[in-house]
Amino acid sequence: MAEKKKTKTSAKGKTGEQSVVNIGMVGHVDHGKTSLTQQLTGKWTDTHSEELKRGISIRLGYADTTFYKCPKCKDFEKYTIKEKCPKCDSKTEKIRRVSFVDAPGHETLMTTMLSGAALMHGAILVIAANEECPQPRTREHLTALKIGGVENIVVAQNKVDLVSKENAEKNYKQIKKFLETEGYKDASIIPISANFGGNIDLLIEALEKEIKTPKFKENLPLKMYCVRSFDINKPGTKPAELKGGVIGGSIMQGTVKPGDEIEITPGFETGKLSTKVISVSAENGILKEANAGGLIAIGTLLDPSVTQNDRMRGQVIAKPGTAPEPTKDVTLEVHFFERLVEKVEKEIKISDLLVITVGTLTAVGSVTNKNKNTIDIKLKNSVIIEKDQKVAISKRNKAFWRLVAYGISK
Ligand code: GDP
Ligand code: MG
Ligand code: ZN
Repeated sequence: MAEKKKTKTSAKGKTGEQSVVNIGMVGHVDHGKTSLTQQLTGKWTDTHSEELKRGISIRLGYADTTFYKCPKCKDFEKYTIKEKCPKCDSKTEKIRRVSFVDAPGHETLMTTMLSGAALMHGAILVIAANEECPQPRTREHLTALKIGGVENIVVAQNKVDLVSKENAEKNYKQIKKFLETEGYKDASIIPISANFGGNIDLLIEALEKEIKTPKFKENLPLKMYCVRSFDINKPGTKPAELKGGVIGGSIMQGTVKPGDEIEITPGFETGKLSTKVISVSAENGILKEANAGGLIAIGTLLDPSVTQNDRMRGQVIAKPGTAPEPTKDVTLEVHFFERLVEKVEKEIKISDLLVITVGTLTAVGSVTNKNKNTIDIKLKNSVIIEKDQKVAISKRNKAFWRLVAYGISK
C-alpha cells in the first residue's frame, strides 16, 4: 500500500524530504556565512542580481543538506555531507537532513536578519579570525538569537588560513571572552576555513552534538511563519496555465497537507486571505505532508501576484479561525539590552518611531503612550501577536535600525 502511494506522489514530481531542523548562519558582514553555507550544502545562496553585483547577501538565503557518517572512519573524521566517505570511499550512513538560513550581515539589513531568527532552532555564529572580536553584527546577531530563545550555537572561527597560529589563538581567546559575557560560555569554537573546506567535518560533529533536533508538540492547529514567497510562473504564461502563489517558511506547530484550507493573517489592507493548499514541498521535492521543523513551501490557489517577490514574508499561515485577530495596537513591557552595539539612547519616548519584529513580520510604529517600562505602540500595519510573546524592538540610529531592546506583549 505504502509503495503504491509513493509512486502516486512522485507522478507529480520527485519525492522530497523535509529537514528536521533550521540552523541559522549568522555573524558580521564578510566573515564567511555564505561561503560556509556553500561548503555545507553545495549551494551558493546569494543569487539575487544585486547580491551578485555587490558581493553581499541582501536577502535571507536558504539551502538544505544531509549530514552523513562513515561507518569505517573514527571520531570527527566520520562526518560528511557526501554519500561516499571522502577519506576512505566507503558508503556513508545518513544522520539527518537540515536546513540552513543564511542571514545578511550588513548593518542596513538587521531587520531582515531578525525576521529570519524567528525560524532558527540553533545557529552557527561565523567569526572571522583575522578581525578583532566582537565586530558590531557579531554581537547584534547573537543578541537577536537570544531574544528568539536560540540557546544552542556553535561558533565557526573562520578564515584561519589567513592568520598565524599565534594570532588564531589570540582571536580564539577574544571569542571565548565574548561568549562568556554574552551567556554562551559553553558554545564550541571550531577553527575552520570555509574557502578551503578545512575542518568542516569537525564543524558537522559539533552541530550534531550541540544542535539537537527540536521536539514539537503534536496535535496543535497549524501555525506557520512565512519568510518568503514567489510567483513560479514564467513571464508570458497563459492565464489558464498559471500556477498559484507559493509561500515558503517553517511550521511552528501542527501539520499541513494538500487539500487543507488555510488562512493567511494579518493579510494586507484588504484583510486576511483564505486559500487551499495544492502542494507541499521541500527543497528536493514533493511532500505528502509537512510537520513542524525544517523549511517547506506550500503551493496555493492564491493569485501569484500577491506572492511575488517575498510579499508574504511575515505572514502567519494558520488553520482557519485559530490565529489571534490582527491588530495595530500593541502594548509591550520593554527590556533594554545591557550592552548595545552603538551608543543608542537607552530610552524610548512618546512619538519615537520603532520597528518591532513579531515572528517573521516587521512593523513600523510610533509610541503613543508610556508608563514606567511599558509602552503603547500604534503600528502602520497589523501584526498577529499573542500575550507574552517576545518581540525584538529596533530604534532608528542615524540611517539604520538598531536592535535596542526586546518587548513582552501585554
Ligand atoms: P558573508 O558576508 O558572511 O556571507 O561572507 P562571504 O561568504 O560572502 O565571504 C566574504 C569574503 O570572504 C569572500 O571574498 C570569501 O571568498 C572570503 N572568505 C570566506 N571564507 C573564507 C576563508 O575561510 N578563507 C579566506 N581566505 N577567505 C574566505
Ligand atoms: Mg552572505
Ligand atoms: Zn571513511
